[in-house]
Amino acid sequence: MKNIKDYNLEELKQELIALGEKPFRAEQIFRWIYIENVTDFDEMTNLSIELREKLKREFSLCIYHVLRKQESNDGTKKYLFDVLDGNAIETVLMSYHHGYSICVSSQIGCKMGCKFCASTGINFIRNLTSGEIVEQILAVERDANVKISNVVFMGIGEPLDNYDNVLNAIGIMNNQKGLNIGARHISISTSGLVPKIYELAERDLQCTLSVSLHATTDEKRSSMMPVNQAYPIEELMKACKTYIAKTNKRISFEYALAKDSNDNLEDAKRLVALLKGMICHVNLIPINKIENGAYTKSTNENIIKFRDYLNDHGIVATIRRELGSDIDAACRTT
Ligand code: SF4
Repeated sequence: MKNIKDYNLEELKQELIALGEKPFRAEQIFRWIYIENVTDFDEMTNLSIELREKLKREFSLCIYHVLRKQESNDGTKKYLFDVLDGNAIETVLMSYHHGYSICVSSQIGCKMGCKFCASTGINFIRNLTSGEIVEQILAVERDANVKISNVVFMGIGEPLDNYDNVLNAIGIMNNQKGLNIGARHISISTSGLVPKIYELAERDLQCTLSVSLHATTDEKRSSMMPVNQAYPIEELMKACKTYIAKTNKRISFEYALAKDSNDNLEDAKRLVALLKGMICHVNLIPINKIENGAYTKSTNENIIKFRDYLNDHGIVATIRRELGSDIDAACRTT
């Protein structure tokens, strides 16, 4: 059965026309789904019973069930949702002074195999559809009774490896007749899929692009992130520079600091040299120790020294606030 949340408003209008209905019904349905967050077509009370029955025959509403919910002392909530085909995905809700932010998954499993990632052991199964991405927001809003204002694609999966569905999901999130989450409040994070960065540069999206860098030499980066063998640092930097030139938007570089691995002064110097002259920001992430993982968190002293070195040499760098680390929800770094 088709998932009604896979359709943006224009596509939904076409679906309704094909069912012999007036296109304005799509806006009513959009409102029920994304503003009222209903879980049953029968709650769409301004639609005729006949139309509701038609919708039930044609579409599912893709309502996730919470399989597990963990709450951190700082209020962060990590959800495991049943995606209705026997698979499960993780979504994290974080509370900031500016509102609620959600970290969504874009795939079931991931192909990238980053060595520091908690989901590295999970084989890639499939891409999430647009509707399955968007339902993460609605399911969390229903459960936590909050309104999400920011979305980061930093959950399981490489979002640019599921490019079309992720971009369509962003279009659905943006729609002012629905969730109305502005593109500036959405961040796409990539491990560095160079061809997709060029593609994204051609789109006039206002989203933030985050690039996981994590190392300053190909040898080190390839050992942490196999994607570097396909797209080494020089190629990645070239793509990032093109992205900045085309969009005039700042890139956020993610750099997870691991003890005795990539957190010394030489690394900081090379990072300054790589990013010199780019409109960018460096997000330093105190790495989370993962089970069987080779990396441990850098010392606070080293993290601060690293940040200060970057700031003193003209690269704006901040240390990411750790949320939910007691429930392993602190960001998995891409
Ligand atoms: S860090 Fe992100 S891209 Fe890398 S393996 Fe994990 S989910 Fe995939």
